[in-house]
Amino acid sequence: MSDVQKKVEAGLAEIRPMLEADGGGIELVKIEDDVVYVYLMGACQGCPSASSTMTDGVEVAIKKHAPEIKAVRLADGPPVPATASAAGIADAPDPAAPGAAKEPFENQKSIGGVKTIIAVASGKGGVGKTTVAINLALALEQLGLTVGLMDADIYGPNVPSMLGVVKSPNVSGQRILPSRVHNIFTMSIAFFVDPDQAVIWRGPMVMRAVQQFLRDVEWGELDVLVVDLPPGTGDAQLTLAMEVPLDGAVIVTTPSEVALQDVRRGIMMFKQVKVPVFGVVENMSYYVCPHCNRETAPFAQGGGKAVSNAFKIPLLGEIPLDAKIRAAGDEGTPIIVTDPDAPQAKKFIEIAEKVLEKIKDKL
Ligand code: ADP
Ligand code: MG
Repeated sequence: MSDVQKKVEAGLAEIRPMLEADGGGIELVKIEDDVVYVYLMGACQGCPSASSTMTDGVEVAIKKHAPEIKAVRLADGPPVPATASAAGIADAPDPAAPGAAKEPFENQKSIGGVKTIIAVASGKGGVGKTTVAINLALALEQLGLTVGLMDADIYGPNVPSMLGVVKSPNVSGQRILPSRVHNIFTMSIAFFVDPDQAVIWRGPMVMRAVQQFLRDVEWGELDVLVVDLPPGTGDAQLTLAMEVPLDGAVIVTTPSEVALQDVRRGIMMFKQVKVPVFGVVENMSYYVCPHCNRETAPFAQGGGKAVSNAFKIPLLGEIPLDAKIRAAGDEGTPIIVTDPDAPQAKKFIEIAEKVLEKIKDKL
């Protein structure tokens, strides 16, 4: 990072908390001929006062630290994507590195009022993580818990659409209020930015979004906060694991996920940060014919069992491949809500009961 860039970043660091308190944010895009180009995010974007925010706040703050800067302008788009390491956070602790596990996690702080936090994770995308996270959250609510659901999938935030919630959260003072839907509380980056835009965020922006969801959202008194993670072991996972003490993780896999490599990495990450893995859910496990009720297995079988055996973690349940589960999720009416007595919904309740068993001492 060049000297002038450091000074500009220092100016941005000064103004950023103010913007973030209003649900916005700012990122440096480039510096060219002593002109700084920045990108305003979230609530700041398209805000009628964006230009005065720029001249009164951002420009003043930047020039204070970097007097050589002539002007500050709005960039057309967000900074180009880069991997976390290329974006300058290479010195951030890498929990995968041997011996690095200790220090980074000393900064963990629980969330006031939130009794337990559970992550829903997977090695690959599209295995039904969000489907499981949503139905698990709703099932826990049906078991009598007060539940929050945090969408930590910054690159593919589909909790709101699968829950059928469109309204943007309100802000109370410095705090963001989660949206309440089907009697649970939820927060997602999709409330603030067009999901297509979040896809190109840099690592540090993802980290900041996750931190904000943990620290600046008024979760209130929750028995459990369920966190829907993106696939793999990226910035969102690391940030979550470093920021808060997780009570446990639920791993979602499919029957045919024979390559255990991706799952292994996820489980190793949780182990390294001393997060208990509650178990594995095998999704799209089998198919029940709606006409004759016979169960068939359209995919190769045994992914869940293989994961369970390989890592000595319990198999929490097997969820069928089911048109109702898909339709309900994709239309924003989860099956637990629309048809709580259906056998498919009961499967999620059984998983929730097992999860509840693991956390009940903390409630
Ligand atoms: P992930 O969060 O792992 O990417 P999603 O939960 O978004 O996965 O699921 C991917 C797609 O598969 C969605 O369209 C979802 O509705 C569908 N789906 C997930 N689980 C099931 C299931 N058990 N039966 C039928 N469709 C499912
Ligand atoms: Mg998902």
